[in-house]
Order: sequence, then structure tokens, then C-alpha cells
Amino acid sequence: MKLATGTTVISNGTLFVGTDSPSIPNATVVIKDGKIVFAGPEKSAPTIEPSAEKIDALGGTILPGLVEAHFHPTYFDVAALEDLDIKYPVEYVTLLAAANAKLALECGYTAARSGGSLFNIDVWLKKAIECGISSGPRLVASGREICGVGGLMDWNPDFRKIGMDGLVLLINGADEARAAVRKLVKDGVEWVKTYPTGDAASPDLNDHHTLCMTFEEMNAVVATAHNHGLKVTGHCRANAGIKNALRAGYDAIEHGTFMDNEALDLLLKRDVPCVPALYFEYASIEHGPKYGMSKSVIDGHKETLEAGAESAKMILKAGGRLGMGGDYGFAWNPHGDYA
Ligand SMILES: [Zn+2]
Repeated sequence: MKLATGTTVISNGTLFVGTDSPSIPNATVVIKDGKIVFAGPEKSAPTIEPSAEKIDALGGTILPGLVEAHFHPTYFDVAALEDLDIKYPVEYVTLLAAANAKLALECGYTAARSGGSLFNIDVWLKKAIECGISSGPRLVASGREICGVGGLMDWNPDFRKIGMDGLVLLINGADEARAAVRKLVKDGVEWVKTYPTGDAASPDLNDHHTLCMTFEEMNAVVATAHNHGLKVTGHCRANAGIKNALRAGYDAIEHGTFMDNEALDLLLKRDVPCVPALYFEYASIEHGPKYGMSKSVIDGHKETLEAGAESAKMILKAGGRLGMGGDYGFAWNPHGDYA
């Protein structure tokens, strides 16, 4: 990402500090060569050279940059399996991802962590943002997502003979798990995204209480990823899946829906962050019916929303770390619909 040059001053706004400290009225923020050098009351601001660019906040609120901790720039109004894989070619998905990243930045997100990517787009999107040829948040890139054969992301029936080549790396056993991670190492990802559990979106075969990877597979993913300095996270709803992930050495947990005291102890022992991403369920329940979502799917989302909210509260109360992310990019929670 290219840094701006010169001095910019934002004034005439209330500064939201983002800590327990109260907001600061009549605040000024001074940015020099792309870095904030002062943020506080206007009366304490340093003297500004007359040539500085001035932005009048018009009495509004000045926020720090937001961080989207579970970002899918390559997901675009996903309403069905086909939308995630075979709806568009890689060329068009790349353009959509660039547009989604630009939108996120314009909505105030200055940093984002990818939660899984179609093809290997996020790695290259990150490079384009860093080179200044595309605009978007500072991006931490993940790549294609790893899931066990027959698991949540292996949705295409075999008779279609198309696999899930754009989005997932399907594995059977620890050897294939290692091979998938090694491919991602070569692809240049920073985080490896996996699917230890199912989701309410697949009530018949891979619901939110189903395990989609074995402990051995998860263990092999972590050992190989850590060997190359990559971090590992996973879509973890079922209680046993959360515990498998924490015992295997995962670096983060996505969703963390069905926590219990044992899972909480495992989480706190290594201070593993969890990203509940509850807006996905909330939006599914609110808007899913418009997209033909079945009652059993919506009932499942209600169950995971309730349990996920309880688990998030449990983690916060115990002093654990939560990341804020919305899992945007589905038809019912599109990019730009940031809560
Ligand atoms: Zn996600």
C-alpha cells in the first residue's frame, strides 16, 4: 500500500478513540506522510503548515480505521453452490474481488483478514493493493479452503464431474492434508482456512454438529503450515470440532459456535482468538426467506446464532479475544452491508 505524502488535517469532529476512554469533542487528527502524528483536542494540536490539506468533519464523528477479521472479497452475492465456484470465471471473480476490496476501504475498513478465497485471488489482490494499482484495506491473504471429501464444501455431486476446483482443496487423510497445505505454501497464502465442521446451511449431510475433517487431518494441516510459518484457522461450529482445532494447535477459530468450559479452557490456555461472525446468521434469518432458504436451514441458523452469541459472551467474560467480522459476500449479507 502506498502511503500518502504531505500533511492532512481533519478537524471539527468528535474523535472516537476505540478504547474505554470517552470520545473527544472538537478533536483534530494530523496525518503526516501517511502516518497519524496527532489525535486529540484541537487546542493541543501542533501548529500546522498552511499548505496542509484540510478536511472539515462538519461536526461528525472521526473513527479509527476498522478491521474486518473475516473477509471474503471473492464472494459476491453468493446464494447457491454454483455462485461459489462455477458461476463466473476467474477473470471476472478477480474484478469482483477488487471492487469488493475498494468498497470495504470506502466504508472505513483499513485492514482485513481473508477468511478463504476463490482460486488464489486474495494473494494477488493483496499485491495489487500494496503496489497501489488497486485500492482496498491492508489485506492478510488466505487461499483455497481445505475440507474433507464429502464435507460441507464438497457440495457438487460426483456425477457432475466438476469437483470444487475454484474454492476448495478436498482431502482424504493426513497425506492429502499435507499436500493441500504445501500447495497453499507455494500459492503464497498467510492463513490456511479449513472446514473442521459443517454448518446450518447444509442440514441433511453436514449440519453444524457434523465433523468434516478428522483430528489427524487437522493435525497434519497445522504441522505442515507451521513448518512454513503459515497460520491455521477453521470454520468451527460443533463442539468437538472446536476442541479438535484447539488441540491440533489452530491459531484462530472462526465462529466458535458451541463452546463449553473445556473448549474455553483450551482457547484461553494459548490465548487463541475467535471470530464469531454472527451477522452471517442474523442476516440469513432476516433475509434468507427472500432467497428461498428452507425452514430447516433457517432453524439451524437460529440455533447457531443463539449458541454463537452465548459462546462469544463466555469468551469475553473470561478475558479471551474476539475478532469482529461479518462474513459478508452472501446474497443476504452483501459487501457494503456492514453492520
Ligand atoms: Zn466465511
